[in-house]
Amino acid sequence: MTPTHSIEDQFYRSLYTTAETAYLAAGKSVAEQDLPDVVEAILERRVAGEGGLSAAEAASLLRLVRDAPDARLRDLVVKAARKVRHASFGDGVATMVPIEVTSFCSSTCRFCGWRADNKDMIRLAITESAIREQAQILARKGFSHFEIAGGDDLKFLKENLHSLVRNLKTETSAVNPDARVSLCLVPMHEPHYRKLRADGLDCVLTWQETYKEDLYNHHIPSGPKASGIDLDLKLQKRTGESIGWLHRMQSQEMAVRAGLQVGLGVMIGLAEIAEADILSVVLHGQKLIETYPDQIEPLIIGMPTWNPITTEAFDNGKTERPPFDAASNFEFVAAVYLLSFPNRMAWVFANGRVSPEIQTNCVENAAFFTSTLVQIAPGAYLGLDGKPVPRAMFDRVRGLPEGELNQEDVLSGEQFVHYYDSHENFVARFEGRGLSVVSDQSMLRSQVPAVPASLALA
Ligand code: SF4
Repeated sequence: MTPTHSIEDQFYRSLYTTAETAYLAAGKSVAEQDLPDVVEAILERRVAGEGGLSAAEAASLLRLVRDAPDARLRDLVVKAARKVRHASFGDGVATMVPIEVTSFCSSTCRFCGWRADNKDMIRLAITESAIREQAQILARKGFSHFEIAGGDDLKFLKENLHSLVRNLKTETSAVNPDARVSLCLVPMHEPHYRKLRADGLDCVLTWQETYKEDLYNHHIPSGPKASGIDLDLKLQKRTGESIGWLHRMQSQEMAVRAGLQVGLGVMIGLAEIAEADILSVVLHGQKLIETYPDQIEPLIIGMPTWNPITTEAFDNGKTERPPFDAASNFEFVAAVYLLSFPNRMAWVFANGRVSPEIQTNCVENAAFFTSTLVQIAPGAYLGLDGKPVPRAMFDRVRGLPEGELNQEDVLSGEQFVHYYDSHENFVARFEGRGLSVVSDQSMLRSQVPAVPASLALA
């Protein structure tokens, strides 16, 4: 049944402050010498049951990130997550592949290589037939989850998206009946998501970057991500309030109401109190579960990090990236995310922004969902065999000479620097840890009923 109520704006507007207050209170209420007893009690209760953590419990675990980084306790948290991961997903791991469709972007996120004002970046937009050709190659490799991703390109949204989703779903399903399609694009509205669901869309991924409103507005000063878009897919008029920030916050709710699975997450370490941003994700996800208990599917919890970009002159990270060591905390944060939600309700998403070793550890101990074979430039999978990439594969090209392109040309336009390995090598690593690849479809609530939403909070 479609609910008639929705989460109040005030919940979103106060979310970061609520999380920051809970995190700081955890530091004051438990003395450091008492923290081991508190952490052990939280883990014992969590592992014995199937429900998630309260805000105070999650905040206590997050003290182990930087406030009291006790190696033994951190290890206990990861071991507890491993038990919950096994109880929830057995030995399964689901792999996904991002397919970038356009690097034209009209937003100006300060941390991103594709921001509109990066004049050194080449730009590519790939044709629908070339996207579908790539998807066929990837489906034959065994992928069942295909993420359509790209810059904030409203032309693509208006002209190409519906037909692409329809055709991609039909063709990948013919190769792999469990095929699922997700979007990681500009947040839209519930009516758009309903139509896209009818086209075959399964899932919408929206990374908030940060729940801290003023910080979001600092890093994202203009474009669709700053303003949000309206029902006609045009930029909303800016009124002085940060409507893009709020629209993005509400994206998951709009997609859930349209019957889609959703992903949420922050760029880990963008906020000065990174732990408060991480806790914001937990509180946001729990609120969605509580508000939409009947239709919510497992939440995909993304873990973006601020990686360097290829166009050095435009890399603000060199001077502005906060001093947070994402790599050494990645697995621990993944464990806290998993423990915070009821069993099977959080698909923590390990990605290629950290090394394959960290990514694999993360999969073994906390993450059911992971990317393999990551290349983040439109058309990148077409040149995998070393053959030239015909110019006709692209609708629009900016910044590259005339004629055919090769893999190096295409990859010179990647959004940010990341780790790369083949799908086959990742699968071998997972199998070496006793895991085997399954379709993510197999872990939806319709397949494996999740814990009742009433257990979401301790
Ligand atoms: S993060 Fe996305 S919206 Fe922002 S500049 Fe990069 S591609 Fe554009």
